[in-house]
Amino acid sequence: MPNFPAVRPGKYLAISVIDMSAAANTFFTRLLAQKGQPILIAGPCSAETEEQVMATAHGLKALGDIDLFRAGIWKPRTRPGSFEGMGTAALPWLQRVKAETGIPTAIEVATPRHVEEALAHGIDVLWIGARTTVNPFAVQELADALAGTGVPVMVKNPVNPDVALWAGALERLERAGIVDLAAIHRGFSTFAPSRYRNAPTWILPIELKTRFPHIPLICDPSHIGGRRDLLLPIAQKALDLDYDGLIIESHPDPDHALSDAEQQVTPQRLGEILSELKYRYRSSNNVDYLNKAEELRLKMDVADREIVEALARRMALVEELAEYKKENNVKILQFDRWQEIFNTRTDWAAKLNVNDKFVAELYKLIHIESIRKQTEVLNGRPQVDGVNHLGPGL
Ligand code: PEP
Ligand code: MN
Repeated sequence: MPNFPAVRPGKYLAISVIDMSAAANTFFTRLLAQKGQPILIAGPCSAETEEQVMATAHGLKALGDIDLFRAGIWKPRTRPGSFEGMGTAALPWLQRVKAETGIPTAIEVATPRHVEEALAHGIDVLWIGARTTVNPFAVQELADALAGTGVPVMVKNPVNPDVALWAGALERLERAGIVDLAAIHRGFSTFAPSRYRNAPTWILPIELKTRFPHIPLICDPSHIGGRRDLLLPIAQKALDLDYDGLIIESHPDPDHALSDAEQQVTPQRLGEILSELKYRYRSSNNVDYLNKAEELRLKMDVADREIVEALARRMALVEELAEYKKENNVKILQFDRWQEIFNTRTDWAAKLNVNDKFVAELYKLIHIESIRKQTEVLNGRPQVDGVNHLGPGL
């Protein structure tokens, strides 16, 4: 692993450190330790023909640092009639990839039969796709089929933004004794229009990493971005967030790919993207850096304390106001007042050079908490519906 002095250990989100003490000696942790750099996984969205698979594999081999060759052979498509993968016929092509390039291979499995066939053909690593992780029945069947095989497994996040389902899938596998695990962040489906194919919602993989610090986390910029031009910025962000690897789709003729054409890049282009990535250190041994960082973090601790104290003051005022409204039989919500709060606070933010959209979101949360508190005072009992009842996403 790259060097990282333990500055104030335990005070950061666990994403800053792969917890190697808790990590088993697995395919992924061994690769990470050998390389001292993030794991690189690449290959086509789908195996289409033997020629396409081999051309991709040799192109990737020439890049010199691809650790694992991916290809989908059973493709879960939204609607029937789209290309659904070559199935078992493609498995010998992957055996040829490994024989000719020495790069281990990985495919997606969704059923116990897939597991059996993949293992019968010497596939090295299996992954559970986003459409399977959503379904605990399917995940349990896979966990049962995978138990005792020793094959490394990567678990993509579920399609919907739900960290519990993702965690649940990892737990099912761990309970089945499968410890050779990695998690893949491939983004989440959302209603809101977005520049991404699947919104990254980075806070969710960070949350997963805090719960599973021993499991390497791999970013899938192809399925997050859905577009070639987004691969580099997403991959860079993942590296800056201390991800342990990248999985990127590559095809010798991306425009004519049978699935995910817009997001695939040639092996050559992938090489360019990888060479443009900036690898930064986890930390630095430089004493000046350490001192300055420590000083700034202490100041941040003070600022955070002030924020929480200000919230305590505000909520005490809310409570006082609620008592007063109760005495005077006045309703909780005065819409004009809420609008005034929302507009003035976001204005102040803009003037102080703080992102006004961030402050807008923060005030929506503060307002929800104020309403909850006032409801409690007016109705004299705790509100069971709490925060989430008041609106989607809040
Ligand atoms: C894939 O990796 O090609 C794939 C189908 O991904 P996901 O399960 O993330 O949609
Ligand atoms: Mn794909």
